[in-house]
Amino acid sequence: MTTIGVLALQGAVREHARAIEKCGAKALEVKSADDLQKIDGLILPGGESTTMRRLIDTYDMMKPLKRFISVDKPVFGTCAGLILLARKIEGSDDNHIGMMDIVVQRNSYGRQVNSFETSLEIKDVADDFPGVFIRAPHIVSVEEDVEILCEHDGRIVMARQGCMLGCAFHPELTDDSRVMAYFAKMVRASILARIKR
Ligand code: GLN
Repeated sequence: MTTIGVLALQGAVREHARAIEKCGAKALEVKSADDLQKIDGLILPGGESTTMRRLIDTYDMMKPLKRFISVDKPVFGTCAGLILLARKIEGSDDNHIGMMDIVVQRNSYGRQVNSFETSLEIKDVADDFPGVFIRAPHIVSVEEDVEILCEHDGRIVMARQGCMLGCAFHPELTDDSRVMAYFAKMVRASILARIKR
């Protein structure tokens, strides 16, 4: 059985777990480096990236997280999770996990539209996905080997680089499991690739 973990230090954990199980995988709340050994793929949820970073350091998880990604295990960052993955955060000299070749801007939607929902066209996923944005970041630019999967209003809001997937919105807050199904497929493919090796 495929097991997908959700980093459970802070943020929208339970909603992701529900979406994972809807896709036929087992969900595990990841609270320590040891938990990373038990999963085939990992979700970095939405929440507050600076708080999550502090907790990652407190629980000594930064190196184990980087190791998990460097052996090509799939990881999916949503909203704050996307910020954790980014190589560069605009206006900051610090990054967090920093392994995805993208530049992100935090809180890039102005005050009136702090939160909104809009229909998104996502490559290989859906023509009409309900995108829920909450104090969302967006991807300002991507390097060559990053594939842009979705743009909204001229801004990149979802992209993939190898085993890393990231989006600025919250698929777990809708009943639509197509984005999660896409990630679960990435995870299953990576298990198969590992067996063949
Ligand atoms: N604004 C948050 C941050 O910068 C992200 C918001 C979210 O995850 N919903 O970390």
